[in-house]
Amino acid sequence: MAANEIPRAGYQCKLLSRVEVAEGTLAFYFEKPSEFDFKPGQSADLTLSNPPETDSEGNTRTFSIASCPFENQLMFSTRMRDTAFKRSLRKVPMGTSVKIDPAMGSFTLHKNSAKSAVLLAGGIGITPFLSIVRQADHDRLPLRLHLFYSNRRPEDAPFLDTLRMLEKSNPNFQLVLTMTQMSQSKREWNGETGLINQEMLSRHLSNLLGPIYYIAGPPAMVAGVRKMLVGANIDEDDIRTEDFAGY
Ligand SMILES: Cc1cc2nc3c(=O)[nH]c(=O)nc-3n(C[C@H](O)[C@H](O)[C@H](O)COP(=O)(O)OP(=O)(O)OC[C@H]3O[C@@H](n4cnc5c(N)ncnc54)[C@H](O)[C@@H]3O)c2cc1C
Repeated sequence: MAANEIPRAGYQCKLLSRVEVAEGTLAFYFEKPSEFDFKPGQSADLTLSNPPETDSEGNTRTFSIASCPFENQLMFSTRMRDTAFKRSLRKVPMGTSVKIDPAMGSFTLHKNSAKSAVLLAGGIGITPFLSIVRQADHDRLPLRLHLFYSNRRPEDAPFLDTLRMLEKSNPNFQLVLTMTQMSQSKREWNGETGLINQEMLSRHLSNLLGPIYYIAGPPAMVAGVRKMLVGANIDEDDIRTEDFAGY
């Protein structure tokens, strides 16, 4: 096969490790084939071959690639709901091969660094943004990034420590964390509380009308945030969304 040829059958990638990144949320690391090419923010289909169990939803799911192009592993992260696909992914032995299709999607950063990017994540919707902000830090990208990240509780919020470290290392990166159900949490919290709304955005952004907005998360969250932005007179051309259909 030529070096730049994409295998139609996808890539067989070995599972290297499984790590808990928040309550009920795991990260899965796979071998990255040398030809696997992607941009931060893209996603890929994962297919289990001969899984221990299956159901009517089948053996394939789409996941955003949460690792970065500069890294030599592929990482995906998911809420471990009680479905056949996820039970299988939790229990297959290390070294099991999973088919990973070529990266797809256009949920990638704009190029014009005169316009900042406002990234709005609901829960596991953080995955494409983790890749985007870590690669931007690695490349010293001269683009201003503002990440608003909403979760029910800190216990449920994956990658908080990584994101906090990035805020220290990248002067172009601002992190705003918000929790919507602190009454259910056992941890202390000094950040924002409540849903991402216009008032919260206005307190942290100098101008709501300049940036390009990116929203990722479960469909209901994406629809709600998009509606809020349109209500705040943000041009629909400046709003890009990634719907985690299936939640
Ligand atoms: C572009 C894109 C990127 C995505 N990126 C990610 C990602 O990075 N991480 C990620 O986790 N997911 C991501 N998803 C969603 C992912 O593809 C799955 O749909 C999702 O993880 C649900 O899979 P499942 O096996 O839990 O449910 P499925 O078995 O696929 O369930 C299908 C249906 O059953 C319902 N359902 C199943 N179990 C439950 C339950 N316990 N409670 C309520 N309803 C239930 C679901 O609402 C859904 O309608 C992405 C989707 C898209 C399209």
